[in-house]
Amino acid sequence: MSWESSAYYYRVANELVRTRLGGLHSARVVLHSVDFADIEKLQHTGQWDEAGRLLAEAAVQVRAGGADLLLLCTNTMHKVADQIQAAIDIPLLHLADATAEAVTRAGVTTIGLLGTAFTMEQDFYRDRLTSHGLEVLVPDADDRAEVHRIIYDELCLGDIREDSRRTYRSVIDRLVQRGAQGVILGCTEIELLIAQADSPVPVFATSRLHVEAAVEHALQAPGS
Ligand code: GLU
Repeated sequence: MSWESSAYYYRVANELVRTRLGGLHSARVVLHSVDFADIEKLQHTGQWDEAGRLLAEAAVQVRAGGADLLLLCTNTMHKVADQIQAAIDIPLLHLADATAEAVTRAGVTTIGLLGTAFTMEQDFYRDRLTSHGLEVLVPDADDRAEVHRIIYDELCLGDIREDSRRTYRSVIDRLVQRGAQGVILGCTEIELLIAQADSPVPVFATSRLHVEAAVEHALQAPGS
């Protein structure tokens, strides 16, 4: 959604296709890149229906461009995933499903969740994870505020800071002390800051997991 993570999605999709198919193969992609300032304003003023309408319109254009699978490159906006799916006749590959499947495959049942305040505090994302049988832990209020601030004030602007990496590491440690066996990097920009080396438990990087699931799906499709 911020282009910092959209660019990452695009690069990883192409790298995975090159690895799988070799040579000069690359991913066939129809990209609709929104003005994130518009979306961010709608998020922070709670105008989710309007945000859903804009993204549904974008999805229709992606479909018209020839896509047969849709990825919404943000965890937060999966709040309006149903509204988007209702506007198109191609599947939206839900990011929380792809993530929950990876967590389950790893044998993890109690998972920490980092993301925007919307993702950590509202039901739409946590409920999707719990529907896969996972127990979800979120940071306490002060940690949530700081995790959220760093996303919008720094990561969405491509500003990667060592002190923020330290903050995230401490938040992860506190989740682990409370019983988290793994941590979902549940905002598509967090993996620009945090890697496996920053955590004593497995991290689940949602952008990468989402693209991996999409490439897998695309390459299995007939005629791919
Ligand atoms: N990309 C972030 C996410 O995955 C937050 C900003 C946005 O809405 O795109 O939730």
